[in-house]
Amino acid sequence: MGPVVIVGGGLTGLVAAERLAAAGVAAPVLEREVEPGGACRSVEAEGFTFDYTGHLLHVARPETEAYLAGLGVWDGLAVHERRAAVVIGGRATPYPVQINTHGLAPEVRRDCLLGFIRAWAAHAAGAEPADFRAWVLERFGEGLAEHFFFPYNSKLYRARPEELSLDWVGRYVPKPKLEDVVDGALGLYRDPVGYNAVFRYPREGGIRLLPDAVAARVPGLEPGRELVALHLGERWLELQGGERRPWERLLATISLSALLDAVVDELPPEVAAARAALRWVRVANVALGVAGPAPSPEHWLYFPDPELPFYRVGFPSNHGRVAPPGCHTVSIELSLDPGPGEVAAAAAAAEAAAVAAGLVDPAAVRVRRLSVIDPAYVVFDHPRRQAVALLRRFLRARGVLLAGRWAEWKYSAMEDAILDGMRAARVLGGEAADEP
Ligand SMILES: Cc1cc2nc3c(=O)[nH]c(=O)nc-3n(C[C@H](O)[C@H](O)[C@H](O)COP(=O)(O)OP(=O)(O)OC[C@H]3O[C@@H](n4cnc5c(N)ncnc54)[C@H](O)[C@@H]3O)c2cc1C
Repeated sequence: MGPVVIVGGGLTGLVAAERLAAAGVAAPVLEREVEPGGACRSVEAEGFTFDYTGHLLHVARPETEAYLAGLGVWDGLAVHERRAAVVIGGRATPYPVQINTHGLAPEVRRDCLLGFIRAWAAHAAGAEPADFRAWVLERFGEGLAEHFFFPYNSKLYRARPEELSLDWVGRYVPKPKLEDVVDGALGLYRDPVGYNAVFRYPREGGIRLLPDAVAARVPGLEPGRELVALHLGERWLELQGGERRPWERLLATISLSALLDAVVDELPPEVAAARAALRWVRVANVALGVAGPAPSPEHWLYFPDPELPFYRVGFPSNHGRVAPPGCHTVSIELSLDPGPGEVAAAAAAAEAAAVAAGLVDPAAVRVRRLSVIDPAYVVFDHPRRQAVALLRRFLRARGVLLAGRWAEWKYSAMEDAILDGMRAARVLGGEAADEP
């Protein structure tokens, strides 16, 4: 194996480097920031710990547990049963709303129930729905579509429902049975549902526990090294400041869009077009350290209402020791278009709306921290799948392997980042083939 260089010291890049190091392969990890961890970083301020944005660990695979146990962090993770709610018209009902409409206003409940029953009765096996809009209407009916699925996803992805494909929905949107929906409207449904019904979170401190534990085993970590230019033909990269490094194999874990924007070779027209087709949103997270008890026992709340600037508000101190005694933390997340657009004003408007909704007492706020994750969510529009496959093939043929949520331009979680990092190390070590 020629010299391997890893770009990006988030969870994916760190795990890949750790696995390679364990196999005796030294690979530098070039990380732009002064600290590793990427989206899974946490910061401390005045006795509070803030994650860059809400990060809860869902573990489905035994190899993830074994890996985290090997790092010595598994026992430091507490298990929580999800307490999440959806707020519609000012009324909260447990998540997922499709089997829990009992907390909503009677007329909203009626819309949801009737819509579901009509869709269920009309359902005929046959053609697959063409887009997210058709899929929601067929599966959940008009009431749930109009009160939750359409406004929530439009706010999060800043896209109309018909612009979205179905490539992401299977795992993340639980499908209910008719009896469950009826029971849910009557308040009878009790089973925890969905991929995130149970989660883990560090007992002490924030989610940085995970990347920090991996980083401690990565001898080649180089913080403060930003890739600014990449020559695919001559296989060198340039760092901020002008230093050039040769590479034989490059493992990229930074976003696919940023990686391609750094390429200095002329891109073939179809590759440039595929890059131009990539669409995403940024997320701003307003983290607050607040005196007094949390205004809600929930771990987090979803807000589909288009009038509210945020899509989700969390209370991380309800699941981790991240606030001094007698205080709590709040995390207000809003979705923004990409680009250099103004963040501070949008964040201030979101905080003001959270105050108006009774979620924050402005007089009790002690610390405020704003972070921006860019890209945050890939928009699964119709051109995405083909564009990503083409870009992946193009880069692979030139020695570049992609791994992780943003490099592979997908929707995935920390467990996937760990597994992606492991897989990348196996591919680089010649033990596995890259995805087609
Ligand atoms: C809003 C939001 C909420 C989420 N919530 C959860 C959750 O609750 N549970 C969960 O499991 N997952 C969650 N995730 C997903 C999770 O954050 C990712 O799966 C995981 O962090 C991906 O890690 P990564 O290493 O692939 O990417 P990153 O963490 O982005 O790592 C990439 C690294 O590359 C560095 N970098 C970027 N550009 C350059 C450059 N030019 N040169 C050098 N370095 C560079 C970055 O600084 C970063 O450290 C959430 C994501 C978002 C956006």
